[in-house]
Amino acid sequence: MAPNDLGNHYRTHADEPTYLSKLVTRDPGLPRPKPTESYWQQIPHALANTQSPNLPTDRDFAIIGSGITGLAVAKTLLERHPSATVTVLEARTLCSGATGRNGGQMAANAGEQYMNLAETHGAETAGKIVDFTFRNLEKMQELIEEYDAVELSEMQRLQKLRVFLTQGKFDDFKKSIARLERDHPDKKGLYTILDADTVVEKYGIHGSSGGALLPAGTVWPYRLVTKVFAALLERYPNRLTIETHTPVNTIEHLSPSASPTASTYAYTLHTSRGPLRAGTVVHCTNGYSGHLLPDLRGLIHPFKGTMTVQDAHNAVSNQGSTISWGFHYPPTYNPETKRLGYGLFYLAQSAKTGYFYFGGENAPLEYSVSGDDSFVAEESVAHLENALPRFFGKDDRSWRLVSSWSGIMGYSADGLPLVGRLPSSLTGREGEGEWIAAGFNGYGMANSLMSGEALGLMILGEDVSSWLPIAYGLGEERLRETLTVPGAINALKSKL
Ligand SMILES: Cc1cc2nc3c(=O)[nH]c(=O)nc-3n(C[C@H](O)[C@H](O)[C@H](O)COP(=O)(O)OP(=O)(O)OC[C@H]3O[C@@H](n4cnc5c(N)ncnc54)[C@H](O)[C@@H]3O)c2cc1C
Repeated sequence: MAPNDLGNHYRTHADEPTYLSKLVTRDPGLPRPKPTESYWQQIPHALANTQSPNLPTDRDFAIIGSGITGLAVAKTLLERHPSATVTVLEARTLCSGATGRNGGQMAANAGEQYMNLAETHGAETAGKIVDFTFRNLEKMQELIEEYDAVELSEMQRLQKLRVFLTQGKFDDFKKSIARLERDHPDKKGLYTILDADTVVEKYGIHGSSGGALLPAGTVWPYRLVTKVFAALLERYPNRLTIETHTPVNTIEHLSPSASPTASTYAYTLHTSRGPLRAGTVVHCTNGYSGHLLPDLRGLIHPFKGTMTVQDAHNAVSNQGSTISWGFHYPPTYNPETKRLGYGLFYLAQSAKTGYFYFGGENAPLEYSVSGDDSFVAEESVAHLENALPRFFGKDDRSWRLVSSWSGIMGYSADGLPLVGRLPSSLTGREGEGEWIAAGFNGYGMANSLMSGEALGLMILGEDVSSWLPIAYGLGEERLRETLTVPGAINALKSKL
């Protein structure tokens, strides 16, 4: 069971805004030293515990976080700069955050978000976000092929079947897709709408009001990311070091006059293994971002996801090479228990073993809005065990739970990633050398790779504005209007 560090004072319904504010702005903490064991990481990569005998001292770039975003930034800086030195700092084992604990779905959500995006940002920016996320998925698949990791990562190109469990959810989705197709006729055909009869008769899924197919994929992200890190270490042995088990505790900025080298290495990262000086600091810490950046707390907050692996004993045919699934329902909330059903289940199947990878949240809010992946919410696991057979029209509770674990996502106040240079108002430090790519709202496989690439290029002074959605940036207007603590509270409130 999880500790309750909010105190009973905040547990009454009347205190909801205070309670929610306290939830979203609390320190996510450092990644917990003993996380739950993710099925994807059961066989650790040879580099899982890699580190230099001594922490290097002076580096051009220090990247904090070794998930897919940290990888994308490191790869871009190394490939695009002829001589830059790069160190990746990781609190735990290599790729032990969300990337190593997720649902393995390569799928975009921009279609169902389109209506909101268009209303908030206009049709052009909303269309760019659709393009960016679908292009990011293609780039994931290209990366897997380039690094000869198709078999290793069990990558599948397939269709995702989005299933809507209520008529209201289905209607909202159809309206969003109709607006997408009206604003951007070139997107016609991206989504195929299905009625409820087709969903059950052709796809064997029960209890829906309708569904939709879209191009997608599945992957074993831990195997991909660790393999590419290993290749980078081999290619750039004198320019890249990876320091696992090296949490960064604090960051200090020195003014150029402080010492002769301060103008080159203006930042000191204080780690568990001593200090490291760097010219540029890149935050790829996603749900944990607020720990090193207190002024970002609430603008990004951690959100804990629960995953299971379940064995259906061949009761359902193996569709792992053709279909993955998402199940959408209106969020449910019990004010007495503060238990939130988040509104989404995600499901993929291993084409090799037939095992189902099934995730979703149904747990007390304070367990979900949390950076603690050292325990799994029992409520969520029970919910996932009960729900899965029913989607396939079975009432069989004997499907074996092979594995369950949790992981920490980064949710942003306005639902969009943050990619860019951090202003002093968010770092609390002087200096212009801190950058961030984070806040992927549970859709990292559709955003992180290109966000990391874009960030790397921006750091090197390149213009990425033709393809990075402007709404992902850290402009003053966003920080004033939408990326705010009240925004985060409202987003959570809309689920209650
Ligand atoms: C249960 C679950 C299911 C998900 N399912 C999907 C899915 O099916 N499809 C999808 O697209 N997305 C999914 N996601 C989201 C996706 O995994 C993330 O958006 C993505 O992996 C984010 O990558 P990242 O590199 O930014 O962050 P992470 O992979 O979390 O990497 C951040 C790293 O930073 C390290 N770190 C943090 N603070 C410090 C510090 N102070 N010092 C040193 N190191 C530090 C962490 O240990 C971590 O390894 C899921 C996430 C979870 C948790």
